[in-house]
Amino acid sequence: MSGIPCAYHADRLALSYCSGCGKALCGSCVVRLGTGNYCRACAETPDLRPRRVRGRSGRTWLWAGIAVLVLVAYAVSRLF
Ligand SMILES: [Zn+2]
Ligand SMILES: [Zn+2]
Repeated sequence: MSGIPCAYHADRLALSYCSGCGKALCGSCVVRLGTGNYCRACAETPDLRPRRVRGRSGRTWLWAGIAVLVLVAYAVSRLF
């Protein structure tokens, strides 16, 4: 037998490596995420998960504010 054993199972061959910590992982240890293959410890670490869009509500409020401004400007232009 040749190859690198799984970091968690010495009797199993590694199929891939964790993209977070570089550990060798067998088929039952690897966790496939959108950004690559990870060990379970890294897959549960929020920093390494696919990044979620942050500040989305802030952006929504920005657009809501712009919409209100446009409506107010339109109403004012109709008044005069
Ligand atoms: Zn890892
Ligand atoms: Zn394993």
